[in-house]
Amino acid sequence: MHWQIVTETNEDLIKQLQECQAIENETVAKVMRQTDRKLYCRLANPYVDQPDSIGDYATISAPHMHAFALENFVDLIKADSKILDVGSGCGYLTACFARLIEAKAQEENVTPSGRVYAIENNPELVKFSIENIISDNPKFFKEGRIKIVQGDGRKGFIGSAPYDIIYVGAASPDIPTELIRQLNIDGRLLCPVGEKGNIQKMEQYDRLNYKDVSRKILADVMFLPLTDFKA
Ligand code: SAH
Repeated sequence: MHWQIVTETNEDLIKQLQECQAIENETVAKVMRQTDRKLYCRLANPYVDQPDSIGDYATISAPHMHAFALENFVDLIKADSKILDVGSGCGYLTACFARLIEAKAQEENVTPSGRVYAIENNPELVKFSIENIISDNPKFFKEGRIKIVQGDGRKGFIGSAPYDIIYVGAASPDIPTELIRQLNIDGRLLCPVGEKGNIQKMEQYDRLNYKDVSRKILADVMFLPLTDFKA
């Protein structure tokens, strides 16, 4: 059966994702409800479960893909987590990660101290994502919850490593060794691995200690590739 979620409000989009069990965790539902997709994309109707172009070689992923990432990470994220969002595009997931840190702080009854570092190589999208996040919640920048940097995400962002969570929103042709190196002990990296234009595997890497990392293949996915930026 082939069917698609098409709704008219962010609230309904999340409700439908819950009904088909793409979202099971209540905290994930809460942060996606609070992060209005219309602030991050250019679609006439943003409340549809499909990816959409936001520029050359860039899309906002489909809501079920964002839900997949957040569901996977939610139990690992804490009030003080350091998160790296590679290929952050429009900034939607970056904002969701910041909200997850704050939701966890609320649950733990502590002040949030975690941070989301987003790395994007297209300067226009860096600007687009900053504007989007400011229109969503300017406090994320004022309070230092989010920092967006322009650069090659394949190299990670060594200045603030190690990270508890690393999410890569574009496909790596092979194992992302430099990013694995920047993963904290007990940290987790999700990355689509495989050639561009093909179906890739969403792979999960968990750092067990300073030398051992486990690898698990989660799902078949299709992402744009990590590339060199061409103006
Ligand atoms: N994380 C976004 C996905 C954006 S699409 C979301 O969830 O909606 C993939 C993004 O990766 C694009 O914005 C593209 O510009 C960016 N990208 C591609 N190669 C990159 C690289 N080497 N370094 C950083 N970003 C890169």
